[in-house]
Parts: sequence; structure tokens; C-alpha cells
Amino acid sequence: MIKFGPSGTDEAFAAAGFSHTIEVPAFIKANGLDIFEYSFGRGVRITQETAEKIGRAFRDQGVGISVHAPYYINFAGEDPVKLRATYDYLFASLDALKYFGGTRAVFHPGSPLKSERSEAMDRLIKAMELFMEEFYQKGYEDRFVCAETMGKINQLGDVDEIIRIVNVADNILPCVDFGHLNARTYGSLKNKDDYRAVIDRLIDGVGEQKVKNMHVHFSKIEYGKGGEIRHLTFADNEYGPEFEPLAEILYEYRLEPWILSESAGTQSLDAKTMKNLYFKQCK
Ligand SMILES: [Zn+2]
Repeated sequence: MIKFGPSGTDEAFAAAGFSHTIEVPAFIKANGLDIFEYSFGRGVRITQETAEKIGRAFRDQGVGISVHAPYYINFAGEDPVKLRATYDYLFASLDALKYFGGTRAVFHPGSPLKSERSEAMDRLIKAMELFMEEFYQKGYEDRFVCAETMGKINQLGDVDEIIRIVNVADNILPCVDFGHLNARTYGSLKNKDDYRAVIDRLIDGVGEQKVKNMHVHFSKIEYGKGGEIRHLTFADNEYGPEFEPLAEILYEYRLEPWILSESAGTQSLDAKTMKNLYFKQCK
């Protein structure tokens, strides 16, 4: 089933007098939403005990949880010590994810730094292959890592690069951030056909099943010459993209992604707007 929710806690959560993650699932449910993404952006700093307690609260409310791995990950890095750290950041995220009772960990694939883009991509694929070997050896096959499309042009993660990464192993899903795609292509996502082109390319590249179950981040994002500048809210009328044409495509293709709002401070409100726009299609 298609699911909607916020990434991180937002202004509405605080305004309702909440502060702790344990209170999130009740808030999500009260707002008519389904899922939540917990960010380990600055590192995985949670004990097993706390994570399991949070996991129980999510299970009790029937709310799903995914995690976002640390931003320090770079599978295209050349330094073996840093590459090992990349693996460990993602494994630590997957461990915490298990304690939470979730199955999806999103990660930013990496950046070429000073090297040529195609060389960096080859390195990244090789590093991903070794990572996934270890992933299966260590018994992580009940979870998925989701490779995210990136908003800054100098980051690895356009649609074709994500297709290559996702094809490395069965347990890698695409995380399509449509705001990022729109930002790195200077506003190319305008109508249904623009979204259709992305979805068709993905289905062609990684197969229907992975696209049906893909992970999605959505927000409007300000962009400039280098792509992404900053996340906006649905109140923006300048940069886009708009969710409505995507909702039509998701329904037409009967896709069932997890869709997380990454709006700047209004995630739960904008997630609800997306959910309502989607279910309008079904009537
Ligand atoms: Zn991300």
C-alpha cells in the first residue's frame, strides 16, 4: 500500500507540545498519516534499548519507520579508511533500523570530489558491490538500502547513476527525491509527462517491482546554477515541483512507494496534502 508521512519532527509536532521521538507515532496517526523517517544525518547515536522502546511505540500505533543514514557516506571515496567508515555508517544505520522494527535505510551515494565523474561512478559501484557482499554475509537481507537521487549537480545521483547503483543487488531500492531531480535539472518536472519520463526510465532501468516499492522524498526546493539551494514548503509558487501531476502518475501506474515530505518545517502538513491529492485520483 502507498504510504505518506513526514521526514523528521516539524513545527506542528512541537506546537502540539511534543518533543520526544516516542511521541511521534501517536502524532503521525492522529494526523491521518502512515510513516515517519528518522534521521541519523549527523551520526548514529542511539542505544539499542532506546531504539527498541521507540520501535515498540511505532508498532503499537501501526506506523511505519524508515531511517536516513549519516551524510558523511561516500561510496566513491578513494581513501580505504574513509570507505570503511562509509560501510560502518550504513551498517550502524541498518542495526538501529532493526531495533526500530523498520526495513528501509536511505543513503546519499557519494560525490566525485576531485576525480572525473565516470571514474568516481566506477569506484562507487565497485565499493557498493563489496558492501553488499558483506551485507549478505552478515545477514542483513531482511532490510533494504535506498540510494537517493541528489539535488546538487556535483553530487553523484542523477537518475541513470541511481539505476546503476540499484542494479548492484536485490536489496537496493531507488529513493527518488523529486525535489532534488527538479533542482538538478533547473525545474524540468512540470507536468504529468515529465514525471512519466522519469518513472518509465526507472522501470526500464531497474524493473517494475523495485519501482513499485520505491522510496520517495518530496519537497519543493530552491535551486541555482549548482542545483539544490534549500528546501521550501508547499507555500512556494516559484520553484516547484508540484505534487499533483506525480499523484496522477503514481495512481495510473499503481505504484506503492513510501512518500516522505522533506518540506522545511511543514512536513506533516505537506505529507497530508500529498496524501489527499493522491486519494482524490482514486475516486
Ligand atoms: Zn537525503
